[in-house]
Amino acid sequence: MSLRKFIAILALVVVALALFYAFTSKKEEATNIASEVKLEISPARSAKLIVVVDNNPGPEKLETMWGISIYVEVNGIRLLFDTGPSPELLKKNLEALGISIANVDAVVISHEHGDHAGGLAAVAEAKPGATVYIPAGASPSLKERIEKLGLKPVEISKTTVLAKGVAVTAPLRGPPYEIALLIYVEGNGLIVVTGCAHPGVDNIVMYAHNVTGLPVYAVVGGFHLIGASAHRLGEIAETFKKLGVKELYPIHCSGEEARQFFAKELGDAYRGGGVGTVIVIKS
Ligand SMILES: [Zn+2]
Ligand SMILES: [Zn+2]
Repeated sequence: MSLRKFIAILALVVVALALFYAFTSKKEEATNIASEVKLEISPARSAKLIVVVDNNPGPEKLETMWGISIYVEVNGIRLLFDTGPSPELLKKNLEALGISIANVDAVVISHEHGDHAGGLAAVAEAKPGATVYIPAGASPSLKERIEKLGLKPVEISKTTVLAKGVAVTAPLRGPPYEIALLIYVEGNGLIVVTGCAHPGVDNIVMYAHNVTGLPVYAVVGGFHLIGASAHRLGEIAETFKKLGVKELYPIHCSGEEARQFFAKELGDAYRGGGVGTVIVIKS
């Protein structure tokens, strides 16, 4: 074989390898969004969510602060989804709402930002050793901080059922990596609870729908839409409409403009919400 022929074959092999690598790595990324194996969640009869911390004022005269924390009761399981920015505020608002942290079974931290993980010390004080679910891919300092507080971090790397009717999504990339809480209420479908929705609230709800094959009944949480264009808001409203979302609570970092936009676009499905809002969904 001439040297020229050899070089030509070598070049072809290199190109083929590069193409193969590009194709397979793209495919791997895509599995994070749509083609994960369908998740079986058995439904719960009802769910109750109470917004404990939020920057939007609500029906109760509770203190507002930038951040989010939602107390969740499903089938006798009690969870705290995010903890707001401060342990003092978390304690104060939980007390005012008559909720005891000592009765919480586990905590889910959507992502590493301080307005979501800042109240963890209050959990450590009332419930030492409690399990705290966090997204795999979060910066190591989150896990270290949870361990230092005497709590038990459990990294979530794929969509996982936590209890009857309750699951958390795989970490979706923002950045940062973020997990959402899924609650399946019989006859209605999923309640999708988001922290800040850094990966895009429409991407999160589509992911939740695809991974479970269930209708999305309600979306509650931070939608991360401050300063979003009208085009982007329209795109998200379309996704909610396409999925037939029946109740929408855009709180925390959703922004006033987005709230007004969804109120106009989604009519009765728009519910607003703020600190102290109670959401009860029954089969
Ligand atoms: Zn955030
Ligand atoms: Zn936030």
